[in-house]
Amino acid sequence: MTQTSDAVVNWMELAEKCLNGEAPTWEESRQVLRAPDAEIMQVLAAAFKVRHHFHGWNVNLHVLRNAKSGMCRENCAFCSQAMGAYSGVERYHLQSVDELVAGARSAYEMKAVKYCMVTATRGPSEKELEIICEATRRIKKDMNISICTSLGLLKPEQARQLADAGVDRFNHNLETSRRYYQEVCQTHTFDDRVATIRAAKEAGMEACCGGIVGMGETEDDRLDLAYTLRELQVESIPVNFLDPRPGTPLGHLEQIRPLDALKSLCMFRFVNPSRDIRIAGGREVVLRQMQPFALYAANSMFTEGYLTTGGNGYSRDCELIADAGFVIAELVHDEH
Ligand code: SF4
Repeated sequence: MTQTSDAVVNWMELAEKCLNGEAPTWEESRQVLRAPDAEIMQVLAAAFKVRHHFHGWNVNLHVLRNAKSGMCRENCAFCSQAMGAYSGVERYHLQSVDELVAGARSAYEMKAVKYCMVTATRGPSEKELEIICEATRRIKKDMNISICTSLGLLKPEQARQLADAGVDRFNHNLETSRRYYQEVCQTHTFDDRVATIRAAKEAGMEACCGGIVGMGETEDDRLDLAYTLRELQVESIPVNFLDPRPGTPLGHLEQIRPLDALKSLCMFRFVNPSRDIRIAGGREVVLRQMQPFALYAANSMFTEGYLTTGGNGYSRDCELIADAGFVIAELVHDEH
C-alpha cells in the first residue's frame, strides 16, 4: 500500500478491481507510475495476479522480420529508419516472397507464435501488398504460425486484402498520447494512426498497437496512451522503451530507469488486464538485470532482436523465461 499526496492505493485491491472488469481510475494508474521503489515487488505481485488470471505462466514469443529497411519518408523522431535520421541502418527494398517465407520457417522452428513482417514506410504500395499477401498464403499453407504484419498506414480496402490473404493481426503503434504525438512526428497525425487500427479491426484482423515509453513524454501522456488502447480494444500491446539511437532527433535523451520501465508495464497491465502485453524494443538495454521481473506484468516478448537493433538471442531468452519459472506458449491449431 502506498500513500502519496492525494491517494492511497492497495495494490492487491487494485488487481481485484481489474479482475472484476472495472478500469482503474486515472489517479490509481498514476500512482502505479509513482509507486515508491521500495514497493516494486508488491506492485509486480499485483500485476502478476492479473497477468496470471488471463495468461497463466505462458510467454508468447514473437519474431520480427524487417522486410523493408531504412527507406521511410516519414519523420518519426524516435525512428532510425526515418527520413533525415543519420543512423547508418541498412537500406533495402521489400524482400522476396521466398525470403519472407524462409524467415517464417526459422520463427516457426523457434516456437514463435507470431511472425511479424514489418516494412519501413508510410503505407504499402500495391506491389508490396501483393508480396506480403502471397508470402502469407504460402506460410499459412506450410506451417502453424500466426501472421502479423506492420506496413504503415492502411486504407480499408488494403486491410481487407490482407485479411483475405490470411493475415491474423495488423500492427500499427500509436506510440504516445495524442498531445505528444505531434511533437514526435509531423508527416502524419495521431488520427491517421487511429484510423488504420480501426480499418484493421473492421477488416477482421486483430490489432496490435502499443507505444514507446521514455521519449520525453509526461506521466499523463503515458496514461493517455494506455487508456486510448483500452478504448480501441486492441488485442495486443507492444511496450517499447526508448533506446535513444544516435543520429535521430531523440538520440540525446537518457534511457529511463529499469524500475520505471517495470512500473509502466504494470500500469499497462492494470489498464488493459486481459491483453497480450509484450515487452518490446529496448528490453535488454533499459531493463538489463530486471528483465525477468518484466514477465510478471507482460506475457509476451520479441526474441531474436528488433528491426534495427539486436537482442539477447533466442537461447538466452529461453533461459531467461525458464529460469523465472515461465513457459513458452505453443500455438494451438490444426495440423498441416
Ligand atoms: S512510419 Fe514507421 S518506419 Fe517510417 S519513420 Fe515512422 S516509425 Fe519509422
